[in-house]
Amino acid sequence: MAGIRTILGDITAEEFGICDFHDHLIRSYGPEIRENAWYLMNDVEAASVELQDWIDAGGRSMVCMDPIGCGRDVQKMLNIAEKFAGKAHLVMVTGFHKGSLYDNYGHWSFLYPHNQVVDLIVKEVTEGMDLFSYMGPSVQRCSAKAGLIKAGTSLRQITPFEQNILSIAADAQKECGAPISTHTDMGTMGIETAELLKKNGANLEKCVICHTNKINDRYYHKAMLDMGINLSFEGPDRYEWLTDVALAENICWLVERGYGDQIVLSMDAGRNTMQKGYMAKEGKIAHGISYLLTKFVPLMKEVGVSEKAIHQMLVMNPARILSIS
Ligand SMILES: [Zn+2]
Repeated sequence: MAGIRTILGDITAEEFGICDFHDHLIRSYGPEIRENAWYLMNDVEAASVELQDWIDAGGRSMVCMDPIGCGRDVQKMLNIAEKFAGKAHLVMVTGFHKGSLYDNYGHWSFLYPHNQVVDLIVKEVTEGMDLFSYMGPSVQRCSAKAGLIKAGTSLRQITPFEQNILSIAADAQKECGAPISTHTDMGTMGIETAELLKKNGANLEKCVICHTNKINDRYYHKAMLDMGINLSFEGPDRYEWLTDVALAENICWLVERGYGDQIVLSMDAGRNTMQKGYMAKEGKIAHGISYLLTKFVPLMKEVGVSEKAIHQMLVMNPARILSIS
């Protein structure tokens, strides 16, 4: 039976509901935090406020995209999931981010034999995630399993380290059937990522490329969709890249051409400064993750995206992609 692998166990597609396909609730450590303190998100209370706000807006599910070595905190996520049991479904990821967040010559994913790394990734999906996210010499698996394999690429480049990560993700998918989602830097290298996944034998119908909406180019998006891969469009409320209306019109254009069953939607509020819960502690007002439903969905309708297509992108497509048989 196919089910969606949430951290509290497998559930049916019908139970999954409205899904934010790429977001962040907890990030407790990691190289991004050295870059900027706004990446530190280690407060279960603040994350709970954010998740409750998502539910209040009509949301139900969320894929939290923090991979190995980049702040993934299985215990804190489990604490949140248990608090919201029956009210929200959280999916966590295994796999890796872009190469700049690791030691490209010394990281175990690069040093261990290929099959050993694949096996470590598969076990996080089939047996349970390591509580310490493979950062130490001993592994302590817990009940929570990963429901997706992440990989990442650099700005205008896919480095040897990242090519290795993509081949590991593809081989792990072949073994355990989990979906793959990839980070693209500023949206670049999406076509090459899809080509590499295909070359390595991944099932592109179960792969999602993230962040390509940062490039305001419908024909670039169409070219990837024509390859059979899915796209996650994140980040309304990112005026530094493009306006919400430009994003909504790009989505509308693709939906009108029949690509609505290959698009998923996300907020990707991956900084504490973007979240209501964290900012409330400082007396600040922020849009938060619920903006996706409260502001962006009405805008999509206004530019002409049908209710049916919105349901497809928020409910049906995530359930199809995340189902593991
Ligand atoms: Zn993200």
